[in-house]
Amino acid sequence: MRATLLLRTVDRANTLGFIGLGAMGRGMAANLLNKTFAGTQGQYDPSKPKPAFVVYDAYAPALNKFLSEHTRAYAGRDIVPASSPAGVARLAGTIVTMLPSSKEVDEVYLGENGLKEGLESLSDEKRAETLFIDCTTGDREEAIQVAETIKHDLGASMIDAPVSGGVVGAEKGTLSFMVGGPEEAFQRAEPHLAKMGARYIHCGESGHGLAVKICNNLLLGISMIGTAEAMLLGRSLGLSPDLLASIINTSTGRCWSSETNNPAPKATPTVPTPADRGYTGGFLSKLMSKDLGLALTSAEQSGTPLPLGKLTQTLYQRLAAHDEFKDKDFSVIYEYLRQAQEGGFAKKMEGKAKAKAAAGGLGAKQ
Ligand code: NAD
Repeated sequence: MRATLLLRTVDRANTLGFIGLGAMGRGMAANLLNKTFAGTQGQYDPSKPKPAFVVYDAYAPALNKFLSEHTRAYAGRDIVPASSPAGVARLAGTIVTMLPSSKEVDEVYLGENGLKEGLESLSDEKRAETLFIDCTTGDREEAIQVAETIKHDLGASMIDAPVSGGVVGAEKGTLSFMVGGPEEAFQRAEPHLAKMGARYIHCGESGHGLAVKICNNLLLGISMIGTAEAMLLGRSLGLSPDLLASIINTSTGRCWSSETNNPAPKATPTVPTPADRGYTGGFLSKLMSKDLGLALTSAEQSGTPLPLGKLTQTLYQRLAAHDEFKDKDFSVIYEYLRQAQEGGFAKKMEGKAKAKAAAGGLGAKQ
């Protein structure tokens, strides 16, 4: 009943939808909502359909948190929770998705109660006016296929628009978007991207946004490990981290990982880093491991040799499989190497193995 009522009262063409209210999505959705609705309160003719903001997340607490944080600020304005991606598609003409990986993108777009199913119940005109902006960092080829299906079967447009800038950038609205897809779809997306980010660059056809993002994160992972090795060697040779970092950062070794996200604690006294706060509040090691996996898949598909990329992925896979490191900022590779140097990691593993052997009565076989 409510859904039918909403369909009649919501101006779908000007309604926005957002799916995936996690670490990144909740800040992005908040900016999109606030900047879209800012200053327009009460300016709509109450007898006519009006734009709304429709949200969905598979994890109910994430959806409820977003609603409790925002609905009060917009009393009388429609911030609508949907019960599925299909529900979002029926109400909103422009839909942003920010999901963990390609698996969830497939589910949300093409699965049961997905966006495609939602569009199938609408007129050709409504389908054609629909724009999907997928900001997930996922597999490039899978993203191209989903966009092709959406276009071919429904006549709707879809762009890949992965981001850099992290959770802080998402909250502050300073993200950079790398966009792949038709020029016309990019132009329609621009006003919305401008509300969530400081930069949005059209990189070319479908999949090109992800291609740029994947190449950037490949380099980021490699340069982080290089920086961690240099900082650890400096420590072993008796150098203070701030002296070494200050010289690297005015010399040829300088990079984002040495300057803004230095992996050694207390290396940049004027720039607080995740390393200074126990490697919390950054880009998680498990996400870096996922992104390096995407780079290696793309390398395999295109026949590109990535010797350093492979080594980097092996190290981040280890971090992603380890409870102590997987949910820490990816600069924690420094701590991983430091523990390896001091034998702490090896000793810990040895201790665990001994305890397991003792518990299972396997001691004699060791
Ligand atoms: P997250 O896990 O915090 O958030 C993902 C959200 O999607 C969660 O709220 C989850 O409940 C929801 N979700 C999962 N499956 C769903 C489904 N089937 N239907 C609806 N909702 C579903 O992840 P995040 O950190 O926000 O990252 C999102 C994407 O952005 C990832 O691809 C990541 O690689 C990329 N990214 C993250 C960062 C970062 O610093 N966290 C930076 C740049 C890019």
